[in-house]
Amino acid sequence: MAGEFELIGRHFNWPAPQGYLGVGDDCALVPVTAGHRLAVTTDLLVEGRHFFPDVDPEALGHKALAVNVSDLGAMGARPLGCVLGLSLPRVDDDWLEAFARGFRAMSEISGCPLVGGDTTRSVDGVVISVTAMGEVPMEGALRRSAARNGDDIWVTGELGGAHVALELLQGLHRGHEGLLDQLRPSLERPLPPVAFGSALAGHAHAAIDISDGLLQDLNHILKASHCAAEVDYSALPVHPALQGLEPQILQRAVLNGGDVYQLCFTAAPNARDHISRLAEQHGVAACIVGRIREGVGIRVMHSPLPVGQGDYIGYDHFR
Ligand code: ADP
Ligand code: MG
Repeated sequence: MAGEFELIGRHFNWPAPQGYLGVGDDCALVPVTAGHRLAVTTDLLVEGRHFFPDVDPEALGHKALAVNVSDLGAMGARPLGCVLGLSLPRVDDDWLEAFARGFRAMSEISGCPLVGGDTTRSVDGVVISVTAMGEVPMEGALRRSAARNGDDIWVTGELGGAHVALELLQGLHRGHEGLLDQLRPSLERPLPPVAFGSALAGHAHAAIDISDGLLQDLNHILKASHCAAEVDYSALPVHPALQGLEPQILQRAVLNGGDVYQLCFTAAPNARDHISRLAEQHGVAACIVGRIREGVGIRVMHSPLPVGQGDYIGYDHFR
């Protein structure tokens, strides 16, 4: 692409931290602490599929990195750095400047420096690929397979906001349009609790970030850990702006709504105090919403409407 190197220099060449080699060589060099393992995750964002063509580019830059560092936190990993693949139909400097600003802000919030990437011209639409790396103590990773019978089930942040925001943008829920201003940040500016997630390494058992809906994501933990769960609907942290919605809309958003980028994790009941203290230190709202049991499936108690097995299904690109 004409101007590829100027483009990178102008928008993405930020100073790398001490001990790093960042943008400008064949590879980036990232220092890793002895006794740790590298955690690597990648996500693709495709225009028209994951974001609207007219989305605020600054919010898009923020979210492109947020969804990746969210995966690091869900593994108990501390961010080390990220690389950014960009495929662009044309060079739009204003768009890129805003995108880079949002990406950089998230990079600073999460402590995940941009150390490299690749830039090409696309045939149609913007495609963004972010790969993030982190490190986790050798035996500390929060694996999906590590839940144990009797564990508490915890959820951070608030549920349902991003899902309803997306539905409002799609023209659903006539009469509730006024909610969009309050809900838009949940969809466009998720703030995954990454430092809290890495502080949970070695203290919590299993964790997952809620990207496809609480029930579907919790079910991934249950399947990998060969156990069941009881969830108390009345204990779930519902986004406060959603309280006036019809029960079926609300319940679906809370249990099945995706794009949350908060954590669902399990931990032994004797870790409660420690985990509450960690949450407070990190400014994260964390609450216990249920318990791991023997068996299969999820039993949701105290929900306004019954929850069936099919209700575990959240978003699936190929369904
Ligand atoms: P190579 O030929 O080794 O693939 P490139 O010419 O593609 O290298 O990139 C030159 C440098 O710019 C590399 O250090 C690469 O990591 C960096 N880079 C390219 N695109 C991006 C981007 N979108 N964000 C950050 N760094 C980038
Ligand atoms: Mg290249």
